[in-house]
Amino acid sequence: MPELPEVEIVRRGLQRSLQGDTLRRVDVREPRLRWPIADDLAVGPRDRALVDVARRGKYLLLDFSSGSLLVHLGMSGSLRFLPEPGAVGRHDHVDLVFDRGTLRYNDPRRFGSMIWHDAARGPVDAHPLLAGLGVEPLSPRFDGDVLFAASRGRTVSIKQFLLAGGAVVGVGNIYASESLFRAGIRPTVAAGRVSRPRYHALAEAIRLTLTMAIERGGTTLRNYVSTEGEPGYAQVDAVVYGRAGQPCRRCDAPIRAIRQQGRMTYYCPRCQA
Ligand SMILES: [Zn+2]
Repeated sequence: MPELPEVEIVRRGLQRSLQGDTLRRVDVREPRLRWPIADDLAVGPRDRALVDVARRGKYLLLDFSSGSLLVHLGMSGSLRFLPEPGAVGRHDHVDLVFDRGTLRYNDPRRFGSMIWHDAARGPVDAHPLLAGLGVEPLSPRFDGDVLFAASRGRTVSIKQFLLAGGAVVGVGNIYASESLFRAGIRPTVAAGRVSRPRYHALAEAIRLTLTMAIERGGTTLRNYVSTEGEPGYAQVDAVVYGRAGQPCRRCDAPIRAIRQQGRMTYYCPRCQA
């Protein structure tokens, strides 16, 4: 499943390939995504220039002067920029045809979404899918104080608190384990019991973990704007994730694996108190 770093990499690729270009046509071959693609998608951005490509959480926002196209890649979605469109494949559900080339959406499992938000309805940030999202972890607004304030009185584990996305967006399962290790925080501790200084360390760790993942991914990406295949980051670089029983890189104690809310968590029992 594409996580925030992969979506950010796609955003940068789209910006490079298509910013300033004019969208001429939308071809919808299969409207049945997570929500059915509405008819206004073909009309709203037509003959408009792509002003900017932004991101909010895992939503890509293709901003036109007439509104924004919200794209979520779901479980298996990917976008490819094709200067020459070529033959259409089985799961190629939507083409956004620009002057410079075609942006093709492929999604075998169809959990992704494409939604047009007309500028007349107000700022896109107020869209119901975006309004409740937490702070962006790479924005200047994000720091330990944000996490500390949002966590007071919370009895859920710090890992669940991060994954829930209400305080900070985009810290998925892998990145939660990695960040908590870097900050020396045990993933099972109640969010409300973590001190302010430790939240400051955690915020820094989250920023570092995500930035490293984006930089690594960015070097492999060319005109193929894609999230296909599993991110190589976890396998190659993870300090704890997926390393059960292997020695901690800091203290040599065996890394422990547990299940929290059905998802795997990895931590060092010695470094993370
Ligand atoms: Zn350790």
